[in-house]
Amino acid sequence: MKRVVIVICDGLRSDMVTPETTPNLLRIAKAGTQFTSHGGVFPSTTRTTAASIATGCLPGRNGLEGNAVALDLGDGLEVLSVGPPSFRDKFAEANGRTLKVPTMSERVKDVGGAVIYANASPGAGIFLDPDGHGHLFHRDVAFAPGRLTAEPLGVGHDAEGDSAMAQRFIDDVLHDQKPALALIWQCEPDSTQHSVSMGSPAHFDVIRSADAQAGRIYDNISAGVDAGDILFICASDHGHETISEIVDLEKILIEAGLKDGPGSPDVAIAPQGLSATIYLSEDAKSRRTAIANVLAADNRIGRVVEGPQISDLGLNPDGGIDIVVIAAHSETPSADGAPGSSVAFQGDLKISNNVGCGQHGGLGRYEQSPFLICVGAGFDKGALIEDATSAIDIAPSAMRHLGLADDDMDGRALQH
Ligand SMILES: [Zn+2]
Repeated sequence: MKRVVIVICDGLRSDMVTPETTPNLLRIAKAGTQFTSHGGVFPSTTRTTAASIATGCLPGRNGLEGNAVALDLGDGLEVLSVGPPSFRDKFAEANGRTLKVPTMSERVKDVGGAVIYANASPGAGIFLDPDGHGHLFHRDVAFAPGRLTAEPLGVGHDAEGDSAMAQRFIDDVLHDQKPALALIWQCEPDSTQHSVSMGSPAHFDVIRSADAQAGRIYDNISAGVDAGDILFICASDHGHETISEIVDLEKILIEAGLKDGPGSPDVAIAPQGLSATIYLSEDAKSRRTAIANVLAADNRIGRVVEGPQISDLGLNPDGGIDIVVIAAHSETPSADGAPGSSVAFQGDLKISNNVGCGQHGGLGRYEQSPFLICVGAGFDKGALIEDATSAIDIAPSAMRHLGLADDDMDGRALQH
């Protein structure tokens, strides 16, 4: 039976896939094809990318347009993090649905099914299969088909937890259950990158750990890959840049007289790390250009995009977002010599931004350079493909291998 196995190493940027740090990934790449111009979606946040990998569609099309989003649950706009387990039901209540397009789990539910293991935030895991078409096991939450509550993985949110999760994935999913789609999402190196200097010894330690788990998983399926039955996809969702400075957009707009106060529902600012999305209430729509002008005049901000132009970023101009703010990017290296720096944003919600450590969410060169390796029938051994690919190409490639429809997705099935 044809099967697809997908391994995500959260936050691993492609310039850190090297013989010293990721010997297993490069060994796997020699057995298949490495895509050297792979890119992410915008915002380059984990939860949006999870939904885009799951659906093959850009955030504007699948409906999850941020790691944090503004919802109106009856009391005006409020910025909510997508991370907690409770977010999914609030999102469904506000919109009358979860994602607007089917996930891979839904597409395979009657033809071998899906089992997903995830160790990023609960929200990132849940939005890989928000309507419960397959099995989803996260360290804190788990669901059987039909969203029946199951026993969570209970592993740590760190490299050790990823290792324990990988062993169970090998034993239970790869050797026992053998679903059509098996996906495992490691939290490292992303989790550690948020609190250490990029390129530091602590950073390389967790890259080596994520690489080791990918190697173990591959070694447990390689016979199926060689027989043409299994398509093995190993990728990251985004990379990271180093935070040079934190800019509080809420403070700027309140001081400019363009937002009523902290957390006020007139102008809802959702921080995405190295970008932010701004939602305006009906009464505040007339302030759009004034807000955009104030922010565009700040030299720490690289780009401000408003109104219909946000569709150029893969967002939906009719989905509630009125203004997008993107940080200025530079090649300035981290204290340990890893290139790429950017300012990070705070909004109505205060997120974890650490100056001198890693972050993502914008359009910087390194955060937009995840890696992608495909091994299996049709992917030439040792090939390096320079054509641009995207996170949204993973789902159509998986469906094509399984002989299922890959139409109506924004991405395209990779070659073959
Ligand atoms: Zn991520």
